[in-house]
Amino acid sequence: MQYRKDRTGNELSILGYGCMRFTRKGGGIDLDKAEKELMAAYRAGVNYYDTAYIYSGSEAAVGEILERNGIREKVHIATKLPQYLIGNRAAVDRYFNEELSRLRTTYVDYYLMHMLTDVAMWEKLKKIGILEWIQEKKRAGAIRNIGFSYHGNTENFLKILNDYDWDFCQIQYNYLDEVAQAGRIGLKAAAAKGIPVIIMEPLRGGKLVNALPEAAKKAMQESGRGWSPAEWGLRWLYDQPEVTVVLSGMNSLEMVEENCRIASEAQAGSLTEADFETVAKVKRAILEKEQVGCTGCRYCMPCPKGVDIPGIFRCWNAMYTESKSAGRYQFIQTVGLTREPVFATQCIQCGRCEQHCPQGIPIREKIREADRALRPLPYKIAIQVARSFMFRKTAGK
Ligand code: SF4
Ligand code: SF4
Repeated sequence: MQYRKDRTGNELSILGYGCMRFTRKGGGIDLDKAEKELMAAYRAGVNYYDTAYIYSGSEAAVGEILERNGIREKVHIATKLPQYLIGNRAAVDRYFNEELSRLRTTYVDYYLMHMLTDVAMWEKLKKIGILEWIQEKKRAGAIRNIGFSYHGNTENFLKILNDYDWDFCQIQYNYLDEVAQAGRIGLKAAAAKGIPVIIMEPLRGGKLVNALPEAAKKAMQESGRGWSPAEWGLRWLYDQPEVTVVLSGMNSLEMVEENCRIASEAQAGSLTEADFETVAKVKRAILEKEQVGCTGCRYCMPCPKGVDIPGIFRCWNAMYTESKSAGRYQFIQTVGLTREPVFATQCIQCGRCEQHCPQGIPIREKIREADRALRPLPYKIAIQVARSFMFRKTAGK
């Protein structure tokens, strides 16, 4: 494992464990499986574990695993204040104390204002006294480093970055988002201030691995590097010295092993011109195909009418990155035949989802377009017939 430093000289593993995507079982997290994976990463040198108040069951799982294995003091925990749920200072304390209790700890190493998308959100927090609160918690040793995670545009990122003496920040960044959100400009600006930059969505929620169009896979194969799609994504990030930690939501031992290997090999500044040309080809191939830039983050959920927004977008994109029939098949499997219907036609246009989408997707418009593409009339009829058969009333049984 390689390490890069934070502003006080702490060594952070360049691979961080994203604790958002643990495997689920029976309505909760599969704790034993998560423990095996997390401990494998720990033994390979990973010392940064990222969770959040709103990742269902995640803080409690991390707390339990660290306690069971007696490694709390040996790792850095990053977690986040759900600032979008907060209206007053008392609520800040309430959420923070609940997080400490879930994590079975008395302090958080890296605490983030979760998902700021513009400077207005930060101003709102300042109005309720967040600056004094941070100072108090830092003085008491309950927060060691304070930062924010960000999903808005570059301009607002720079404003927030320059408005406070942050210890670190977290941005969405990958080869497809080089000029989106904080982007390379934001990364460099943060690094120039000497603060660590934590990277989330390095593989766009797995899309840069699982949903690559054929032309993109071909470009990777023809490069002769022998790297997997995940390795291309991670190496592109590690090549940049301004990147401190790359978070990966690992949920298999193979993934842990591969990511740890890459994080021990990839050096900053080691990609060649030919490598960048390969990445450029991959990007062109993806952007030509995708219909909507949904990362599957699920911040738009739950929809009050039950619409499965990320599920519908994933299938719509698959129609173009894989094939029409593959996308429609995935739609039938994952969206069309759920017991509670989750179709786009249930949308009442309330707009709630769009307020939370970090990608700024006009969800109401795109979801209808997606529905038209995924459910042409014959498919609509077939799905309806299948549903009435599967979910028919079984009177007397
Ligand atoms: S606009 Fe439609 S899809 Fe979005 S939250 Fe409201 S009902 Fe759900
Ligand atoms: S629509 Fe937006 S908020 Fe919802 S999953 Fe996709 S990117 Fe995330």
